[in-house]
Amino acid sequence: MNLKFLTMLLVFTGGMFLLNSFSNRKQLCESSPHRHNGWPLLFMLNAFFLIGYLVFLVDLFFTDIVAVHHLVVAVIFFGGGLFVNIVLRMSAVSVLQIKQIAERDRHNAFHDALTGLPNRTLLYERIQLAVAASERDEKPVAIILLDLDHFKEVNDTLGHAVGDKLLQKLAPRIKQCVREADTLARLGGDEFSAVLPTAGERDAILVAEKLRHAIEQPIKINGQFISIGASMGIAIFPHHGKDAETLLQHADIAMYQAKHHARNFMVYDGHDNQFSINRLELVSRLREAVKRRDFHLVYQPKLNLQNGEITSVEALVRWKDGETTDVMPDVFIPIIEHIGLMGELTLWVIQQSLLQVRKWRQHGLNLTVAVNVSVKNLMDPTFPAAVRSIVEQSKSSANNLMMEITESSVMANPTLAMNILTDLANMGIGLSIDDYGTGHSSLAYLKHLPVMEVKIDQSFIKGVIKNENDAVIVCATIGMVHSLGYKIAAEGIETDEVLGFVQRWDCDVAQGNFISQPLNEKKLFKFVMKHNDALAASGNNSSQKQNWTLPAG
Ligand code: C2E
Ligand code: MG
Ligand code: MG
Repeated sequence: MNLKFLTMLLVFTGGMFLLNSFSNRKQLCESSPHRHNGWPLLFMLNAFFLIGYLVFLVDLFFTDIVAVHHLVVAVIFFGGGLFVNIVLRMSAVSVLQIKQIAERDRHNAFHDALTGLPNRTLLYERIQLAVAASERDEKPVAIILLDLDHFKEVNDTLGHAVGDKLLQKLAPRIKQCVREADTLARLGGDEFSAVLPTAGERDAILVAEKLRHAIEQPIKINGQFISIGASMGIAIFPHHGKDAETLLQHADIAMYQAKHHARNFMVYDGHDNQFSINRLELVSRLREAVKRRDFHLVYQPKLNLQNGEITSVEALVRWKDGETTDVMPDVFIPIIEHIGLMGELTLWVIQQSLLQVRKWRQHGLNLTVAVNVSVKNLMDPTFPAAVRSIVEQSKSSANNLMMEITESSVMANPTLAMNILTDLANMGIGLSIDDYGTGHSSLAYLKHLPVMEVKIDQSFIKGVIKNENDAVIVCATIGMVHSLGYKIAAEGIETDEVLGFVQRWDCDVAQGNFISQPLNEKKLFKFVMKHNDALAASGNNSSQKQNWTLPAG
């Protein structure tokens, strides 16, 4: 090839590379704030070089004899053009990637990862924008706060994976009920919120109706239909608040009122405020109480119907809220479960119960104590080890400990629960199915569990005298449970007749206020000592099966 042609080709191609690098100009020049942006200067220099290339090319064109040094300069021009092109192209790619990452981070910072809906931060922003626009136009803004009903049970009984799927399927359904200009956000857990710019109370109620209808349609997950409901609270700008914080807080209060009155939705009413403050206060007082172990236990005797003796008790937790009387577990246990502290409380109950067993034993009374175990414990693989260490530290025997579990807590995660229950049973801890009959599991399933006792729920026991259905259910359950080889306990014995009934139908254990209410440790000690002494004095004899009578007093 002719040297002149080769030299010109190299300079020309180098110039083309330089020219081509201008295609990244827009992207790079817009990549950083103007004041610190060196890219425009770099492109000006680039243009300046390009003029140099052109001048050299024209010079070559009119040169007759092209020498080797021309070729060397042309190679440098070619390399320089290629170098600048590659550097600018790579810079443009990096800038694009950085932009995409920043965009993704921004999206993640403002959106919920599970449903892709805006999150609480973006919701606040949207409410503020809507409020600012409404102030100008003198129009209202409606906020709807929505909380799914019994979502916790879905999580507990069907597992978190199903709970997550449910939320993912519900999100687009809920979104369809609001307009493009509205914002639907997930605030976390099972809580959603919608901001409806320019909507007043009546529009918000219409949307709430639509939401209720959409949510109530059964959802198919893993071939199974799940139905769920929701409670909603509505707050309207400017009547119920002038900023995002107040509006959301008032919508939250209205939502709790709706839950409280079993309504689908309620509009905020200033009088509700006290109710909510009480609830929030209750939550924070309970957190403190768990931290300070501000609880105590009472014990209810479990009467052995075979021989009339009391050899075991059920430990029931009580909370002394300030100076007032004991608060019952039905009030505070659901809240402690909700704030995730039930596992901790159960371990404390087990520890206190075993220490108490030891104290009674030191005073000549040997009792087994039954402790209620929460679903949280049966989902916690570290639970058996924690129990083992408590048993060891308390210097009691695991045989003196029983655990009462409900069917639904086992069904929450049957495989894990089964492993945990097997570990506990292997330690020598007796297991009992509590509140039997209120869940949905069958005896066929229960027969695989390492339990030794089934407690029929008090709702059936209370009716055995007056309600024939209850009597039939109780008798059939006693027969079936016995055929599986388990003992059967009846709880909620409130009268002599009911005690007589379960005794006649061959129940093994009876518990209820007729025998004794739950008592503190000292009263329990006196009660059991007196009971067993009176039983011995009355000549009742354990070999005479069910021929004893309940001692007077
Ligand atoms: P549960 O385990 O079924 O306990 C029996 C409940 O029935 C106790 O209520 C007891 O006082 C009550 N009871 C006993 N006999 C009678 C009777 O003849 N008539 C009536 N009407 N009630 C009777 P309590 O102490 O209010 O406990 C309620 C529930 O709270 C317990 O039901 C149990 O599920 C839960 N609970 C109590 N202590 C604990 C605990 O330490 N941990 C956990 N996870 N749950 C607990
Ligand atoms: Mg119980
Ligand atoms: Mg029970």
